Amino acid sequence: MRAVLVAGMLGPAIASAACFSLPDPTVAPLEALVIRDARKAIAGAETLRNELLRDQRVDSQRLASVYAIEAQSYSLLDLDADARSAALKGLALAPGPSDPIHLNLLTTYAENQFDEDGIKSAFVSIEDARAQQPKGSPGETCLLVTLGQMQHYQGRDDLAIVNLIQAYGATKPDGMAETRARAAAALAVVLFATGDLDQALALNQDVIDWDIANGATQRLSESRFRRGEILARKHDYPAALNEFAQVRQLGIALHDDQGIGFADLRACEVYIELNQLAQARAKCNSAIEVFGASHSVDLIKEARSFLARIDLAEGRTWRALTALNGVLDHDGADLSQARLTAVYKLRAQANAALDNYRDAYADQTRYINRYTQLNDADRARNASTLRAQFGADREAEHNTALRHQLALEREGADRQRINLRWVAATALAAILIIALLTHVLMTNARHRLKLQELATLDGLTGLPNRRRTAEIAVEALAHAASAFAPLTIALIDLDHFKKINDRCGHATGDQVLRDFARTGRELLLPTDTLGRWGGEEFLLVMADTPLDIALARVEKLRESALTIKLPASALDYRVSLSAGLATSDQGVASLDDIIARADVALYEAKSEGRDLVRIAGESYEMASTGVRRALRRR
Ligand code: GH3
Ligand code: MG
Ligand code: MG
Repeated sequence: MRAVLVAGMLGPAIASAACFSLPDPTVAPLEALVIRDARKAIAGAETLRNELLRDQRVDSQRLASVYAIEAQSYSLLDLDADARSAALKGLALAPGPSDPIHLNLLTTYAENQFDEDGIKSAFVSIEDARAQQPKGSPGETCLLVTLGQMQHYQGRDDLAIVNLIQAYGATKPDGMAETRARAAAALAVVLFATGDLDQALALNQDVIDWDIANGATQRLSESRFRRGEILARKHDYPAALNEFAQVRQLGIALHDDQGIGFADLRACEVYIELNQLAQARAKCNSAIEVFGASHSVDLIKEARSFLARIDLAEGRTWRALTALNGVLDHDGADLSQARLTAVYKLRAQANAALDNYRDAYADQTRYINRYTQLNDADRARNASTLRAQFGADREAEHNTALRHQLALEREGADRQRINLRWVAATALAAILIIALLTHVLMTNARHRLKLQELATLDGLTGLPNRRRTAEIAVEALAHAASAFAPLTIALIDLDHFKKINDRCGHATGDQVLRDFARTGRELLLPTDTLGRWGGEEFLLVMADTPLDIALARVEKLRESALTIKLPASALDYRVSLSAGLATSDQGVASLDDIIARADVALYEAKSEGRDLVRIAGESYEMASTGVRRALRRR
């Protein structure tokens, strides 16, 4: 169970990959397994632990390493109580405080603290450990990341940002890539909490890239979850749902129930925003089941309050009120301030709907008081960010003052007047250069992140660009292969596009491409990806979709393309598309293969007169008899 201090930080703990590698070579394979499949790592660790305990003279150092592996795995599975308990057992056995095993256990222990006192005392031990590391060393940087995370838990995002930026800056992509990914993950969470969504998204993408490149499937489920949260906050609900669906799949593959629960809980919230209440209810119920099994009271309560929101929207006011009373027992002690505020507001609504005006008034007052407090806290937090900034500025100012003083003293001797001018000018220039360099470094980092984000999107349509689309398709194929799920792709090409350009101008052509992208976004499912493949050609990846359903969807897309408006100068021209469909042979075929087959089908559609959807022959042959029959009927 986890009590939460800070608004907006509900969600899994930030994963800590082994920053202090365990020195014992016999545990290295297990350690590598942690970020790939934490459940498997735990099983392996348990076996090894039992073997060690069977020995006459137990190797306590090795045993401590095994506990470290278990602690890290539980941490990644969001089972913080288990993580703390394993870490404590290890710490009792580990050698002295500067030993990597000790530091490894200590960081995992600290990062799984969620109550005020626990965070405070762990904070002190991490500070102490950090003081003993050489400045700027990898060890110090690792501990700095942990500190930043804890400051975030404490609601001190202003301090967290400063430390995490420093840690991120101290790592190089080639040298300390894993620590860099850790710092990026932590920084993304803090920036998300402070509302810097674009930065958070770009940093989060770094982490996803690292996780994919390194096969860190377990951690990928967390970084994708974060992406989903950011996208939901950006109101990009379909994309957010898509991430949560992927997190769910990963959770199933990894037997990570908490991961599934978190994905469902957030999906529930998004479905409420979309007013798709039946879906929302199903997701929340599923989350409650998961969190019930792990006794995560705060999360169960969060899901219950969402269910009450749904009940209220559907007019089941009594049920909503009863549920909210349950959520608010013990004055909602296990809820975050932000959540608590929302729940009081909700209960005020329920009471008002039942004509309990006194209770409604009381709840409304609690809501308003808490809301004001929360905003005070927000303001204080903003103010302290400014203070941190001010602190930095003041230091710079202080340096300037010193240099001025120096200059003035020398000015006293007028025979050196000219010389002094030079000194002052050089000092000033040095200050300017330092300021400029700092500025350039900071904006560079920002720009780089921005660019990375831009590098995955097509500028004209806002759709994923070719590279990103191919990445998504390859991932979807891998998933289809492992889950034996169907996957269908469509290669789509707008018809006679050259003529539209020629007759109505390039700007109209551009507008048609944008309109088509919008149509796709509106019509397709969250699990679909429509990407710009090049020019007026698009690739549609439909995960978990068999051929017949995919065909129906692309037909719908074809029909809605016909409704895209052209200016009067277009005369009898209209927008239409041709498409070729191909399915993956349960993921056996490569992306190139499937696209090549779709391309042949597209060519058929073109040569048979355009405004048509055609299916690749092989896909048709591969479809089940039932599907074939259904297709033949069309
Ligand atoms: P078909 O039905 O056989 O596909 O005919 P088409 O004219 O669409 O095919 P073709 O490939 O010959 O021409 C594609 C045209 O799309 C040529 C190119 O100028 C135009 N095009 C490609 N990208 C863009 C773009 O970003 N904006 C605009 N306005 N036109 C583009
Ligand atoms: Mg064309
Ligand atoms: Mg073309």
